[in-house]
Amino acid sequence: MLDHLAKERRARLAAERLLEQKKRELIAANEQLAQHARALSEQILRQRSGLERARVEAESLKGERALAESNLERANSMARIAQRRLWEALETIEDGFAVFDQSLTLVAANRSWLLGLEDDPELTQGLSYDRLLEIVTRRNIVELGAQSAEDWRAVMAARIRQPLIEPVTLQLSDGRHLRLMDRWGAEGDLVCLAQDITESMNRETELSEARERAEAAARAKSAFLANMSHELRTPMNGVVGMAELLADTELNEEQRLFAETIRSSGEALLGIINDVLDYSKLEAERVRLAEAPFDLEHCLHEVMLLLQPSARKKGLQLLVDYDLFLPTRFIADPGRMRQVLTNLLGNAVKFTHHGSVTARVTGLATAPGRYDLRVAIEDTGIGIAPDHLDLIFGEFNQVESEANRSFEGTGLGLAITRQLMGLMGGTLWVESRPGEGSCFGFRLELPLAETLDQEPPSSEPIRLQQALIVDDAKISRMILERQLQALGLTVASCRSSAEALRVLAADPAAFDLILCDHRMADGGGGALVRELRRRGLRLPIVMLSADPERAAAEGLPVDALLAKPVLRSQLYRALQRLSVEPARGHAAPPDLPSAGRRMRVLAAEDNRTNQLVFRKMVKDLAIDIEMASDGIEALRIWQRWQPDLIFMDISMPGMDGREASRRIRSSEQRQGGHVPIVALTAHVLAEEAEEILAAGIDALLSKPLKRAEILDCIEEHRPPGALPVQTAEVG
Ligand code: ADP
Repeated sequence: MLDHLAKERRARLAAERLLEQKKRELIAANEQLAQHARALSEQILRQRSGLERARVEAESLKGERALAESNLERANSMARIAQRRLWEALETIEDGFAVFDQSLTLVAANRSWLLGLEDDPELTQGLSYDRLLEIVTRRNIVELGAQSAEDWRAVMAARIRQPLIEPVTLQLSDGRHLRLMDRWGAEGDLVCLAQDITESMNRETELSEARERAEAAARAKSAFLANMSHELRTPMNGVVGMAELLADTELNEEQRLFAETIRSSGEALLGIINDVLDYSKLEAERVRLAEAPFDLEHCLHEVMLLLQPSARKKGLQLLVDYDLFLPTRFIADPGRMRQVLTNLLGNAVKFTHHGSVTARVTGLATAPGRYDLRVAIEDTGIGIAPDHLDLIFGEFNQVESEANRSFEGTGLGLAITRQLMGLMGGTLWVESRPGEGSCFGFRLELPLAETLDQEPPSSEPIRLQQALIVDDAKISRMILERQLQALGLTVASCRSSAEALRVLAADPAAFDLILCDHRMADGGGGALVRELRRRGLRLPIVMLSADPERAAAEGLPVDALLAKPVLRSQLYRALQRLSVEPARGHAAPPDLPSAGRRMRVLAAEDNRTNQLVFRKMVKDLAIDIEMASDGIEALRIWQRWQPDLIFMDISMPGMDGREASRRIRSSEQRQGGHVPIVALTAHVLAEEAEEILAAGIDALLSKPLKRAEILDCIEEHRPPGALPVQTAEVG
């Protein structure tokens, strides 16, 4: 029983323990269930709120979509409006506008761009550029000029395929001009613009026509001026020439006064004509400056020499004070420089009664090869009152005063001088005291004509004493004389080879130096020095040449060769060198040339009065003379008669003097020889002087002719074999 009880107890205990465990498991399961239920309900809660949010969102999305739809619609309509406006605008503008796509297919174009093709049945969207070119040529819309339609299309088709397309201008058959400007856009489309430039083209043509008309008028005016100068000077030539001849005849005192007055008034009138012409040319800005090397010192000397006669009459001294260390050769317009110096020096002489006129030249190097020059012309004349100083540079201004009344002049000289100075980049000034004198000066920067060695002259003495100059040009002879005299030499001069041979034959021991010009009309210094050496003359000979290279190439028997115009420093050095070199000893006296024929002079002149004047002027000379009345006749006489000198009028009917001279020179090229031709010209414009000299003419004599000038000229050109021309000297 016990056992049974124990067993029961044990079973009960085990059941109790099991129950206990199940109870615990139940509680745990319960707890877990509660947890799940909690989690579940939380999840449900979360999902429900998410659902709610989604619903709200869905609601709002629905509104947004409606908004977007209406926006899109609005945008579309706005875009349509904008496009329509754009096209309307593009249609209203006059310029053409088109767009092509990458394959050059037409996307859109306005009417202007379509050049009136818009009605063409072939013109549809999707048309290619090349096809369009074909339509354009088929319908002759473009002026092709000399080009064929095919060529034009090829050019245009190639052009449009360039990555960067150059603008091109088309002329249309209706007279319009279009400028095509085409450009590839970033998206690959081609944007084309066609601008109607007809108006500006027309304006341009109008302008260029107007310019041409104006230029023609200016040319006509210039020609008119030149003509006027000729027309005025030709009759004046008759007046002045005849008055001069008249004054040479038997006259009583009153008659002589009349004749003299006619002559001097005529000359004064010519001066005025020249001034007025020059001034109007400057005003019309038709003066162009030449650039050539020139010798400032030489130029001053030349101008002084021309003024010498009037200075001598008043007992005035003319002086040049040229800075010893300043070079003399510069680049400028030689003719205009001379004009400036002539004006200033001429005034100085004109307005000075006693004392002197001095030209002072100083200068400073501003850069290598450039000099800042100051040229001052000082006089001891009547001077100018301070309140007049500003006026004198104006046109037609002369100082109105008692002291001044007696001077002639146009009052244009200083106005011209100032304008010329301005053109050259220089400045003109004046200082003056009434009763004491004036100083006119200018400052001008000029480039050197050559690089000179700037050594100061060495102190080696010049031992030569007696020089003989042989030169046919009076001015160079006189300048050389001055230069040699300044170096302490005694000087004698000859105008021709023949004269030199004669002088040397007469007294061979009188000289220890000969200076000889290379190019003389009578065959040249070259022939003379060869002849002198052939005759055994051993004096030092200095050859002066304007073309030293050529002279050197001739291998002449001379001791020095100097370039003309001669610089003082070079002359100085040459004489120093010849002073120390052993003398070559004196030669036997050269023989005199045997007396020969009369000199032959041909004068070509169409005007009867002038022919008469010319004949009268030379009637006392021992020369043979023939007259030609035009270029053709002059040529004929020259061929047949071989004159020693030709006076050639420039403007003649038929063949003028230039052409005749050109033909003579070209015949001479084949036949050899060189007849001196002296132009007689009334043309005074500097450009024309150049052109005349370019025709092969050796010198210019300006009308009215003066007897003394003609005689000088004939004497200078007398060949060695001819008799002296002055009858008084014959026999
Ligand atoms: P023109 O000499 O033809 O009268 P310019 O223009 O050369 O004309 O000179 C204008 C004026 O200036 C002259 O009339 C004169 O009164 C004055 N003048 C010019 N140079 C001098 C001078 N060296 N001395 C005094 N007066 C002068």
